[in-house]
Amino acid sequence: MTEPTMISNGVATTAATFDVIDPATGEVFAQAPDADRRHLDAAMEAAAEAYRHWRLDESERRRSLLVAAETIEAETDRLARLITLEQGRPLRDARAEVGWAVGWLRYYAGLELRREIVQDDESGFAEVVRRPGGVVAAIAPWNLPLILAVWKFAPALLAGNTVVLKPSPFTPLATLALGELLRDVFPPGVLNIVTGRDPLGAWMTEHPTPWKISFTGSVATGKKVAAAAARDLKHVTLELGGNDPALVLDDADPGRIAADLFTGAFMNSGQNCMVIKRVYVPERQHAALVEALAERANAARVGSGLDDDVDLGPISTRPQFDRVSELVADALAHGAVAAAGGRALDRPGYFFAPTILTGVSDGTRIVDEEQFGPALPVITYRDLDEVVKRVNDGPYGLTASVWSGDPARAAAVAATARTA
Ligand code: NAD
Repeated sequence: MTEPTMISNGVATTAATFDVIDPATGEVFAQAPDADRRHLDAAMEAAAEAYRHWRLDESERRRSLLVAAETIEAETDRLARLITLEQGRPLRDARAEVGWAVGWLRYYAGLELRREIVQDDESGFAEVVRRPGGVVAAIAPWNLPLILAVWKFAPALLAGNTVVLKPSPFTPLATLALGELLRDVFPPGVLNIVTGRDPLGAWMTEHPTPWKISFTGSVATGKKVAAAAARDLKHVTLELGGNDPALVLDDADPGRIAADLFTGAFMNSGQNCMVIKRVYVPERQHAALVEALAERANAARVGSGLDDDVDLGPISTRPQFDRVSELVADALAHGAVAAAGGRALDRPGYFFAPTILTGVSDGTRIVDEEQFGPALPVITYRDLDEVVKRVNDGPYGLTASVWSGDPARAAAVAATARTA
């Protein structure tokens, strides 16, 4: 076993490491600490100890979150470069992610912790008071490493909890840098970053110290987290995957909506939880919409996120690259036609041509499952009620969008879409 050489606010530095791969080359470019159970115990212990004081002084917590925002903002270039290197998105978007993180830290620093009186009459008095619970175990995915880390630790710390945070093994570096930058911003033990492979996540959910697990990731892992949390009835928040449909109504103009639909589906190379994963369009508008989307897909500049003139970076991980390749190949084998793309790019790294698929319908894997990548099926429909039923029938929730020239009509249809 390796000894933790340092745990504080808190990065566990270990002798053992694991590889971090640059998705633009497919090559190992860095190492990250591979924490074992003893490192995790030390982080949990530090967080539990820090909680005793951290929970007491709300104004200190707000001040610290503001200093955290300033500290991160001052290191925008360094953090953005790490995000691009480990996750692949263009540097411009990575800088935006850092700015977003800074904005959310400021938001949480000022967020009111409201007390709500729900009853105050002769029969009784009842008030909702928001109190911290202790240590939060936070587990994040790879698609937006920095903002997802901030969304986890900032509200938890504001409320008076302390945090042990694990980034994805695919994208540990920006979060480790965050831990280093904030080491002196929060008192020791308040924010602890542990990096390691997937079993570290499972050890966190089984650990007796946390009172709550905050998890963002896939549905499959979310089910394991919920089962682990059930053993000792830990509180749990699960932010999981989706198969977000865009429903185009018969009064929408394909030429006017294509640009926003394309951005809504292909931002971050299709690797955001809420991006559009499938488009349903009436038969009459189908050809025009496919043509307009394909034009944009063909025009999108795909390349290393470190290059200046890039719109879309690589797919972030090898397993995700393999999954997108497999789902597109399956659709093509079942009669789909690629109006754009349809294949991996012939170059090193995990690059996939932005893909628009037509001639597909429900029952094909890329329509029924979350693809989480730069490939979009466009599906025809005839009857609005029937298509709403189709999009509502699957196992996924999360988001849906409705596209119409008439906002009131779009809102009425949106009210019938299932998002949970
Ligand atoms: P994943 O489920 O494979 O991994 C997520 C995290 O869980 C990683 O840190 C991983 O190491 C850890 N983990 C793995 N096995 C674990 C276990 N048994 N117990 C506890 N933790 C474990 O997901 P991913 O591939 O990293 O992320 C992509 C998924 O995340 C997509 O499905 C996407 O839709 C979803 N996502 C959802 C949201 C949202 O807010 N709803 C946001 C971003 C991403």
